[in-house]
Amino acid sequence: MRKLLLVPVFLLLVNNVYSQTLATADKQYALVIHGGAGNMTKENISEEKEAHYKEVLGKALDAGEKILSSGGAAIDAVQAAIMVMEDDSLFNAGRGAVLTNEGTCEMDASIMNGSDLNAGAVAGATDIKNPILAARYIMDSTVHVMFSGKGASELAKQYGLETVTPDYFITEENKVRLKRVQENAKKEDKHGTVGAVAVDKQGNIAAGTSTGGMTNKKSGRIGDSPIIGAGTYADNTTCGVSCTGWGEYFIRLVMAKSISDRMGMQGLTLDGSVNMMIHDKLERMEATGGVIAIDKYYNVVTAFNTQGMIRAWVKSTGEKKIEIYK
Ligand code: ASP
Repeated sequence: MRKLLLVPVFLLLVNNVYSQTLATADKQYALVIHGGAGNMTKENISEEKEAHYKEVLGKALDAGEKILSSGGAAIDAVQAAIMVMEDDSLFNAGRGAVLTNEGTCEMDASIMNGSDLNAGAVAGATDIKNPILAARYIMDSTVHVMFSGKGASELAKQYGLETVTPDYFITEENKVRLKRVQENAKKEDKHGTVGAVAVDKQGNIAAGTSTGGMTNKKSGRIGDSPIIGAGTYADNTTCGVSCTGWGEYFIRLVMAKSISDRMGMQGLTLDGSVNMMIHDKLERMEATGGVIAIDKYYNVVTAFNTQGMIRAWVKSTGEKKIEIYK
């Protein structure tokens, strides 16, 4: 009798495992990107700026999708999408990075591959044109994960990456913003950290994040973006995550890895896990921000507790969205 009862349970398990295997070998792909979370409403973003954001997000999606649709790797799609946003001064990453209290640019970036948990990161980079590229090189070509400041710069030059003088990053808009923040002594930020998460046709997940940090941050401060597990995480068995928001809280919550762990250890869905971390854990600390994430079943989730988050995604099914407001 007992044995008889076990048969349907066994079949159920086999069926479940089979459908999961099918889902991950389905030749699908998905890519989600963000350009920061914050105080974005229809009222405080001009039509011109909104159009610019959407145009660049569209280009970043295209750059990543081109790679994914032709069977390329998620990690390459993530890098390509982020580079498009780093090159645009509207975003707080690469060109357009916000200024420290000393008026300098100190950029952070990280990238992670979900198939082998390999990762690379740079912190406090001052002259690397595309910090995400340096993070990628560190991941691929060294036994280390993170380089900072001068060491990161030397490494970038050694790899032949493009380096630039500080004036490449510093925009007039960010100078004015820094002055305003310092005069008013209040926290105000240009939200525009960028990130991308992708799953490719092979079922591999990758994630990356790049930022200038927060306006008027003390020189030397490092946020969550270059910290694997805090601002970025990718694991083929669970999900890929890229974060944006008040970095200190994302570090303390180990945000990206916690989202993965709640799926892997607690059995939550991607949606359940992301929403618990943003709308329960982050909110309880009275902090703000958002995340983008993809799981191994090609589900895309975006969540934030700010007024808006610049975000976009595309899937092999033809679904494509570019959004800013709630
Ligand atoms: N998380 C970034 C940092 O704290 C900033 C942001 O995403 O807006 O450096």
